[in-house]
Amino acid sequence: MVKIFIIFMYLTNKAFNMVIEYLNKSYLKKELPDNVKDVYNEGEYKRFLSYREESRHLGLISSAINILITLLILILNIHAWLFGMISGLNVYVQYLIVVAIFTVLSMVIDLPFDYYDTFVIEEKYGLNKSTKMTFALDTIKETVLGTVISYALIVLIMVLFEKFGNMAIIWCTLAMIVIAVIIMLIIIPLMRIFNKFEPLEEGELKDKLLALCDKYGVRVKRIVVKDASRRTTTSNAFCTGIGNRKTISLDDNLVNAYSADEITAVFAHEFAHAKFRHVIKSLPFSVLGILISFVSLAIVLNIPSLYTAFGFDGMNYYFAQMMSGVIIWPLSTAMGIVGNYISRKHEYQADAFAAKEGYGQVLISALKRLSKESLSGVNPHPAMVILNYSHPTLSQRIDAIRKCQNDEPSD
Ligand SMILES: [Zn+2]
Repeated sequence: MVKIFIIFMYLTNKAFNMVIEYLNKSYLKKELPDNVKDVYNEGEYKRFLSYREESRHLGLISSAINILITLLILILNIHAWLFGMISGLNVYVQYLIVVAIFTVLSMVIDLPFDYYDTFVIEEKYGLNKSTKMTFALDTIKETVLGTVISYALIVLIMVLFEKFGNMAIIWCTLAMIVIAVIIMLIIIPLMRIFNKFEPLEEGELKDKLLALCDKYGVRVKRIVVKDASRRTTTSNAFCTGIGNRKTISLDDNLVNAYSADEITAVFAHEFAHAKFRHVIKSLPFSVLGILISFVSLAIVLNIPSLYTAFGFDGMNYYFAQMMSGVIIWPLSTAMGIVGNYISRKHEYQADAFAAKEGYGQVLISALKRLSKESLSGVNPHPAMVILNYSHPTLSQRIDAIRKCQNDEPSD
């Protein structure tokens, strides 16, 4: 019975995601909002549609295979079997082996799809700049990092729950807050595992950006340029860090190909995230999410039949963590909706700031160009936006920016 319930929860989650994907796909047939009709010309839009179709097909095959393998693993009690094989070893070594096996397995399953996506689909549409060497190194680094992070989390949970029982919910949450803050403080060194970050060159552009920081007395520790062009032709920018360690990163693709005004408009948006302290403001909600996940874990740890149903003799932390994720998906989805809503509000606020600085029109044209160059969709289904979009749609952003411009008397 427990087993059927778990499999049911797992499948409803996958089915739910597929329905949303399907709605989103059907929405492509709808007429585009007026303010984004000029993003793609007719030929480009056809090209965008065929890119989307190829990506979607690949995604469907990849999900189907993933679901099938997960179902087999669950039905055949592979987790319990694996732990049984190494039961003579030290318990920490057992968990390390199992975490490593499943992280590598997941990498191996995804590898052909990632490869096809990068070197066939993205290559065909001119988005890929990654070499096979970079791709191989990325895969290895991600797998090692994934194993280390998952294992560290399991050990943390195991040690705290063994010591404090259900009170470990609080200790685990506190530990995660500390870890989150440390990560935010050293985010750029961490990201150097995958990318190079160079300080922005001295010159007119940098002076312009620093002038904006000075004007509001907000300290941005570093303005850096990320070597995105090692992997892709698309561009992005982000603001990260807390306190006086805030960093704004601009992709080299942006810095090298966009006008100083366009870059400043994008920077003004990122700067607003720093100015309004969006990173720290979204922290309490993330903490709530973490707390809920540990409450759910504590509940799952106390259901003995869950382990016997899947072939275990007793409770298992690795399996508990996985099951907790499966069971609470409706709640995590609801949390995701709120989290994305908060994030989209911050994005509107950042756009409004750029508009107030006089970059509204330039920001609109830069956003359109960024969308087009990354072959992004311009009319996602509203359900997709509510569930998964951390940014408002391009059309919504343009509307909001224009509204700001109308509100501000121009001179
Ligand atoms: Zn933003």
